[in-house]
Amino acid sequence: MTDNTRVLLKRRCEGVPVAGDFEVTSAVVESPADGQLLCETIYLSLDPYLRGRISGRHISGSVQPGELMPGEAISRVTTSRHPDYVPGELVAAHSGWQSQPVIDAASARRIDPGIGPLSTSLGILGMPGLTAYAGLLRLGEPVAGDTVLVSAASGAVGSLVGQIAKIKGCRVVGIAGAPEKCAWVTHVAGFDDVVSYKSGDLREALDRACPDGIDVYFDNVGGATLDTVLSLINLHARTAICGMISEYNLTAPELAPRVTRALLVNRARMQGLLVHDWADRRAEGIAQMASWIKAGELVYKEDVIDGIENMPAAFLRLLRGENFGKQLIKAGDPA
Ligand code: NDP
Repeated sequence: MTDNTRVLLKRRCEGVPVAGDFEVTSAVVESPADGQLLCETIYLSLDPYLRGRISGRHISGSVQPGELMPGEAISRVTTSRHPDYVPGELVAAHSGWQSQPVIDAASARRIDPGIGPLSTSLGILGMPGLTAYAGLLRLGEPVAGDTVLVSAASGAVGSLVGQIAKIKGCRVVGIAGAPEKCAWVTHVAGFDDVVSYKSGDLREALDRACPDGIDVYFDNVGGATLDTVLSLINLHARTAICGMISEYNLTAPELAPRVTRALLVNRARMQGLLVHDWADRRAEGIAQMASWIKAGELVYKEDVIDGIENMPAAFLRLLRGENFGKQLIKAGDPA
């Protein structure tokens, strides 16, 4: 049996993380105790929230220097010391950046390989999918005919938010960066329009793309984009605060215009969203998304990089906004 490749946080990072903040190491493979599973990792998920975890600012706790980098993975059971699991079964668990984790069976989620390609259990049929589904429908409350605006529109969450809003009969506009991402958002994901926050005046572009104003804003980026959008919201608009990726590497809060006037005069709502609050809707959300995929109503995009040892570089790339679609690392054989 080969060693367990592990990626550790080497030091606490301030500002933009660098490769030297992480360390790729090798450890002896542990033996599972009663109730545990030894697994081999197949896919690992890279998610923006990990930036908060390594600077000690995330609600689910911080990672200390020397500790294993956290993250969700899909793995195959190789040795089971739990009566409900047999070798060969597929599980999802927060087993971190390592190739051969020992997992408490109680913390694992069995993956049904028939529901879709394995990798989708970390994307459209996993945490990002549930975030988009529950966040848009419960906080955004879209109504047919509404204008729904979503930022980070080519990303794992944003691309689904827009497509679900289309299914609900809304006019959907995305905000994205690079030209190829903007093209994908309209030509492949089917948004009605897209605006690049990287070229020209965002307010003017949004004014043009949303001539009837904005009824729902699903915010993945925060910062100046959020300030601009709030100046364009309609009466009784709903803003779901899902993420603030433009702010994750800041070392001090930015000074921002006060936006409460826009909420007041429009009697509008702005509400934070945490996907964990919607865990009880996971089964419903995943079943609905799986059926929309089958019906050809939802598309998704994955950005897959090979090798656990490449996780630090892939994470830095994600924080530079260079990923295009759900960021995954392939660490083992999915077949
Ligand atoms: P992805 O990694 O799939 O997409 C992120 C995209 O964000 C990038 O591809 C990039 O596209 C864009 N981006 C990166 N940096 C910036 C920036 N400075 N300004 C504007 N856009 C930027 O991410 P997810 O879809 O998985 O996550 C999207 C957001 O949702 C994140 O903020 C994440 O933290 C949050 N989230 C929150 C959850 C919750 O429970 N509240 C759960 C899951 C995710 P581009 O080229 O267009 O800039």
